[in-house]
Parts: sequence; structure tokens; C-alpha cells
Amino acid sequence: MKLLKCILTENDCCQTGRTIRPKGVMVHSTGANNPLLRRYVQPVAATPGREELLAQLGRNTNANHWNRPGLNVCVHGFVGRLADGTVAAVQTLPWNHRGWHAGTGASGSSANDTHISFEICEDDLTDPAYFGQAYRAAAELTAMLCQQYGLDPLADGVVICHQDGYRRGVASNHGDVYNWFPKFGRSMDDFRAEVVRVMDGESQEEDEMIFYKNLSDVPEYYQAAVGKAVDRGALNGTGDGELNVSEDLCRTLTVLDRLGKLD
Ligand SMILES: [Zn+2]
Repeated sequence: MKLLKCILTENDCCQTGRTIRPKGVMVHSTGANNPLLRRYVQPVAATPGREELLAQLGRNTNANHWNRPGLNVCVHGFVGRLADGTVAAVQTLPWNHRGWHAGTGASGSSANDTHISFEICEDDLTDPAYFGQAYRAAAELTAMLCQQYGLDPLADGVVICHQDGYRRGVASNHGDVYNWFPKFGRSMDDFRAEVVRVMDGESQEEDEMIFYKNLSDVPEYYQAAVGKAVDRGALNGTGDGELNVSEDLCRTLTVLDRLGKLD
């Protein structure tokens, strides 16, 4: 999942400076047919990386984005389409900022005080390809947040959608995401299971050793050192033209190179 950062500093919510201790993640969907991130997310003059963000997001010429005062809503992130049509996530508030996304529920309390929130940009809710990509990116973002804050996505009340929050008495009565997910056979139970799959997959990857087949597959920051080892005949690979070098070895060679041992 590509994750950009464009904090909505001009939104009144951001100006409050209030923080929370995150106890969960609340998933929203926008309820409007516009999958483009730039509908909601735009940098202002002072936003770091403004030109790069505009290039990736595209320009919103309607002045209706959320990086402005006078709105009573703000979330921590969005999932939707970049200007090139690919699906990505954008962080729009510090994760531990107190967002304005849930309203107040029947219990008198609000998930604003406990949950990190993001909106998935809806399209016309009929495209399975967009749904699949947005659903997966949303699961990856949720998994990342659960990992970062030590949250169990299967524990009661941790990963919920806006409508779940309403039923639990901690959010206003909005239907999202049940206006969309069930159209493609997905429930919030399915979503939580997907989050777990992402988290399990990532911890497995950490245990697996990474190999690069050819010199061109080796990441740029290792290439000089690995190239020198090949040139000097110290690294011959498997003999059939393939290098098959592990990342560990690449790192070792890079250290040796810094010590001048490969020159
Ligand atoms: Zn909502």
C-alpha cells in the first residue's frame, strides 16, 4: 500500500491540538460518488512536499477539499485514487490527534475519543476492481495502525465501521460501510480477518530471508558494493549467470565496501 502524508492543517479539527490514546480504528466510507483523493485531500502552501503531493493527488479546482476552515469533520486518513488512477492511502491527521468523524452516540460517548479514523472514497459502488483495491488498501492501513499501537483487530470494538459505532452507542447513525461492503459479499468480520491476514503475512516476511536473483534485482543502495564483489571474482553466484545473493550478504558487502575492502 502506498501511503502519502498530507496533514489537513487548515481544518479546524487539526487546529484544536487535542490528542487521544488510540484504542481502535473506525472505518468510514464517504457516501458520495467520487473515488478521487483530491476531492478531499489537498496540500496548502506550507504543506511539506506540496508539489510532489499535487503531482500525485492531482489538483482540486473546486475548493471543496477538507484542508480549510469551516468544516465540522476531519479524519486521520483517506483511501482512494491518485491522479494516475492507482489506489493509495493518505494520512491527513497525526494518528493520535482527536478526529471529528463519529459524532456522539446514544451512550453519550464518542469514538472520536478512542478511535483512529479513515474514509474510503466511494465510487458508484458497482465496480468490483475498485472495491477490491480499496478494501485491500484499507485492510493494509488498518493492519499498520494496529501494529503501531499494539491493537488486536479481533478484540471487541477495536476495528469497527461507523455503523458498528452507532450500534455500540459511540457514533451517530450513519450506514457506512454497510452501504457498500455487502454489495461485494464482505462484512466487517471479513474485513477484520483480512487485517489479521495482512498482519500475519508481514510478520512471516520478516522471518524470511530475501534473495536477489540478478545484480539488477539488488536494491540501488547495495549495488555498488555487490558489483565490486562480482567484478573482483569474489561473488560468482550459482554458475548459470544468476547471482542469487541474499540481502544479508549485500549488507555485509556494503559494510566491507565502506571500509575500503573491495577496492
Ligand atoms: Zn462515517
